[in-house]
Amino acid sequence: MRIVVASGKGGTGKTTVATSLALVAAELGAVRLMDRDVEAPNAGLFLDPVWEKRKEVGLLIPQVDEATCTFCGKCAEVCQFHAIAVIGKKTLVFPELCHGCGSCTLVCPEGAISEKLDVMGVLAGGPTAHGIDFAQGEMNIGEPMAVPIIRELKKWEPVSLRGTKQSQPMEDEIASGKNAPRNDILEIRDAPPGASCPVVESIRGADFVLLVTEPTPFGLHDLKQVAGVVKELGLPAGVIVNRDGIGDNAVQDYCDDNDIPILMRIPMDRQVAEGIAQGHTLVEIRPEFGLALRDMLEQIAQRVA
Ligand code: SF4
Ligand code: SF4
Repeated sequence: MRIVVASGKGGTGKTTVATSLALVAAELGAVRLMDRDVEAPNAGLFLDPVWEKRKEVGLLIPQVDEATCTFCGKCAEVCQFHAIAVIGKKTLVFPELCHGCGSCTLVCPEGAISEKLDVMGVLAGGPTAHGIDFAQGEMNIGEPMAVPIIRELKKWEPVSLRGTKQSQPMEDEIASGKNAPRNDILEIRDAPPGASCPVVESIRGADFVLLVTEPTPFGLHDLKQVAGVVKELGLPAGVIVNRDGIGDNAVQDYCDDNDIPILMRIPMDRQVAEGIAQGHTLVEIRPEFGLALRDMLEQIAQRVA
């Protein structure tokens, strides 16, 4: 089962929920947590994994050998992103437009194009003391695209899941219905904030989406956006209201009107806020939330089943 923890905006408590959910789930069975918030991954700060594996990732950018190139223009014709152009006796590559699809290399009749990895970020992972298989992606500062790193993170092989390495169907296969999702590993994904391409990429192929919000006009505005994406993708979802007690009832009204269940409420609590700022997880600060998270997991499992 794959659960995505998402929110329309940053700072709503997405990582607070994802890390404690993983800790509770680790008491029940095999669990992996993937921090896909590649612009600012921080779940590892709370779970303190042993970093066993690390891999540089990026896009394969074409390099043209001008001595071999006949300037025929076939590469420019095939590129949908206008990332390669032939101007007179020059073939120019614009790496910032390139999506690394490899089409130009395939069509080049002279074999004049080779590819070089443009490193955009790093994947890293390893087990935590609680038995969670943890992995995160981290994008280099200044990189414009998060999606290629999230895609690479999807292919990350578990380092250790209680000693068993288990294969899973690819997400695209699940999305197309070729393979049923396996329920023996719980995968929790901490998605990027917002409702743009990196979020869609993180949500695609999931079984359930947990939307973390706060009961304020800003929270509602951003919840609506990400809930719209989830609806488009046809996935079941539930809401967690964080900092409950501030704001108004508009989030409740919206969820009622749109048949989105509110699965849990985390009250506004200074002790929780201070504990999280010091790097503690919700269930360490308030162990009673462990039971609520466990109940929520059961509800989600029933809905997914
Ligand atoms: S397809 Fe190959 S030979 Fe033709 S312009 Fe591009 S790089 Fe040069
Ligand atoms: S790899 Fe793809 S996107 Fe990049 S220049 Fe070649 S055809 Fe264009």
